[in-house]
Amino acid sequence: MPTYHIWTVGCQMNISDSERLEAALQGVGYSPVDRAEDADFVVLNSCSVRESAEQRINGKLGSLAHLKETKPDTQIVLWGCMVGPDNQSIFKDKLPMVDHFVSPSAVDEVIARVPNPIYSFDEPVLPIADIKHPPVSVHVPIIYGCNMSCSYCVIPLRRGRERSRPLAEIVEECRRVVERGAKEITLLGQIVDAYGHDLPGRPDLADLVEAVHETPGLVRLRFLTSHPAWMTQKLIDTIARLPKCQPEINLPIQAGHNDILKIMKRGYTVERYKDLVDRIRAAIPNVSMTTDIIVGHPGETDEHFQATLDLINAVRFGKVHIAAYSARPGTTAATMELDEQYAVPYWKKQLRRVELEKAQTAVITELNQQFLGETVEVLVEEQAKGKWRGRNGQNRLVYFEDDRDWTGRVAQVRITRTGPWSLSGELVGRERATSDEQQVGHVQVPTEFVIPLEVI
Ligand code: SAH
Repeated sequence: MPTYHIWTVGCQMNISDSERLEAALQGVGYSPVDRAEDADFVVLNSCSVRESAEQRINGKLGSLAHLKETKPDTQIVLWGCMVGPDNQSIFKDKLPMVDHFVSPSAVDEVIARVPNPIYSFDEPVLPIADIKHPPVSVHVPIIYGCNMSCSYCVIPLRRGRERSRPLAEIVEECRRVVERGAKEITLLGQIVDAYGHDLPGRPDLADLVEAVHETPGLVRLRFLTSHPAWMTQKLIDTIARLPKCQPEINLPIQAGHNDILKIMKRGYTVERYKDLVDRIRAAIPNVSMTTDIIVGHPGETDEHFQATLDLINAVRFGKVHIAAYSARPGTTAATMELDEQYAVPYWKKQLRRVELEKAQTAVITELNQQFLGETVEVLVEEQAKGKWRGRNGQNRLVYFEDDRDWTGRVAQVRITRTGPWSLSGELVGRERATSDEQQVGHVQVPTEFVIPLEVI
């Protein structure tokens, strides 16, 4: 049987693209191997959001050059955000070990490069729905591309304009993947809350969430990543009303000072962002707000950075993805950084990153302590180092121990230890009566994936 190997770096969208490709490759009769050396078909799903990601991929390409010399029949595909309409011709000369360059998310174009497929592949791509044993938590892309033009970001140049998938197609895919065993769905988009504006009838993310929420057997529903300028009150109210929607929202702010937000062309102010957070918190009790921040964007002064630090301490996010700014070719910030008066030196970026991380660690340590002694609902994903690992509604990692198989089930866990990165605790429920259906929060969870209480 012919074999494939996929190597993925980058965001959830890339992971999701790779999952879909995996299903499609199996569909044409290929089977997976752990090492590129053993594969007939090797795919590198690349990321270019920061320079460090590209450096990792270049390292991998170096080792594949050696492979190509010793096994010239191996077909090598460079896929993902490193490949855009702007750079394919440059790559052809620079990367002779690569046989094919394919744009991000284009699963069917990768499949078209597969040598000697055993089965033909001519269906529309709904592959995640066709994975035989999907993971507990799956990502479903709903909108590709990005229409924004944030100063620092290369993604729109690589992923192109926004394209929403038809609502009915997404709903059908969710139904099928849950039927095969998935319990949690995360709807994905670069700007997920821009969903639908390009579709006939202009459905929006709230309409889609409402429709996917009906999926029989679905336990949890999330979406990623929101943009503050697109988040509507209708969406907030919908999440608040629908019980399977989880209390966690990723809302990148990027900087805590209006001058920098303006340079970044983000389209909102700090005041508007804070007002949005207040409205979300008022509507969704216990919601965990998470965010992304870039430090050291060209033009960022100590005063601007201090405003970001103050924001972190004031808003108290459940998670902050902090990145030191890195220049991306073709972006306006990259041009701005060439001017010495705006460029933030490397060491200063790193100092700011570390300082922000320290502040956020203090915030999250304190926030997590609130779970001590509380019983939380954990959707269990897998076993790791002898412990069961899952997440609560706010997406905090939770560990507990038990002999039985909890994969894909909802456990009630009383938290006994907390730290900045995870919570751990013990199973509760031994003393509780059994019933046909166990009430999990305000979600009715069908008995098939709740371990009957009498065995606990
Ligand atoms: N669509 C999202 C961002 C997706 S990219 C949004 O609207 O914010 C994921 C994260 O990578 C961004 O939130 C940003 O914090 C970071 N990032 C993007 N470009 C970057 C760059 N040039 N340097 C450092 N971090 C960057």
